Amino acid sequence: MFLDVKNKEGGCHCGKVRFKTKEDPYWVGACYCVDCRKISGSPYTVFAAYETGSIEILQGIPTNYSSSEKVFRSFCGECSSPFAYFYKDSPEKLFIPIGIFDDPQGFKLQAHIWTSQKLPWVVIHDDLPQKA
Ligand SMILES: [Zn+2]
Ligand SMILES: [Zn+2]
Repeated sequence: MFLDVKNKEGGCHCGKVRFKTKEDPYWVGACYCVDCRKISGSPYTVFAAYETGSIEILQGIPTNYSSSEKVFRSFCGECSSPFAYFYKDSPEKLFIPIGIFDDPQGFKLQAHIWTSQKLPWVVIHDDLPQKA
C-alpha cells in the first residue's frame, strides 16, 4: 500500500533533528484543525502515523510543547520545524508531518480529519473517508 516508505529518513530544516522510520506508517491523513493550522502556518497538514518503536531518532532531541489538554507538539528547538504530535495518554503513537521527510512522494493519503474546521476554500477532490 505504501511504496518505498520503509527506512525513510527525515529531519527538520536546520538538520539538528534527524530520524529514520523502520516500518510503514499505519495511517496517513490530512488534518484541518485549527491547532495544526496555527502550528504549521498552513491551511492543513498531512501526517503519517507510526508506533514510536518504529521511529529511530538519529540525532537531536525534539522539544515538546503542550498544544492542548490532550496533545503534545514536538519540534526542533533550533529552527522550529515540526517533528511530530502525540497524545499525552498514548505517547506510543507519533504523527509525523510528511513534509519533513527527505522524500515524501511515496505516502498515500487515506483520510481527512477535522473537516469541520477546514477553511471553506480548501476543496477535497477525492472520495477518501472524512471525519468532521
Ligand atoms: Zn532544526
Ligand atoms: Zn490537527
